[in-house]
Amino acid sequence: MSDCIFCQIAKGEVPARVVYEDDEVVAFEDINPQVPVHVLVIPRQHYNDIGDDVPEALLGHLLAVAARVAQEKGVAETGYRLLTNIGEDGRQTVGHLHMHVLGGAKMPIRMGPAD
Ligand code: 5GP
Ligand code: ZN
Repeated sequence: MSDCIFCQIAKGEVPARVVYEDDEVVAFEDINPQVPVHVLVIPRQHYNDIGDDVPEALLGHLLAVAARVAQEKGVAETGYRLLTNIGEDGRQTVGHLHMHVLGGAKMPIRMGPAD
């Protein structure tokens, strides 16, 4: 998708602070970090979101790279959050599948059962 900003980053047409890349995925610093460590992991190929018939092996690889990025960014010990927003209610703003790696601070909202 030529008008997709993350496709352009994946192709190197738009600059980004890349922290990891291989044939399948690219990980780069979010332009507007919400926490000290805020990295986006994307497939090179365009998928709208996690429900867009993404091959399971690619989804697994995306998660594995997210965990590796967390390790290399030094937040694996203290903890972090992986997040992917989907569609309007999910408040997705870029329509190219991406996994947020968020860490280096206590997350503002605890998801799941109350303490
Ligand atoms: P979403 O809201 O779709 O889950 O997240 C999109 C994320 O992409 C946001 O956190 C936003 O800051 C980030 N973002 C949007 N445009 C760019 C860009 O051109 N470069 C980088 N590095 N991040 C971007
Ligand atoms: Zn794209």
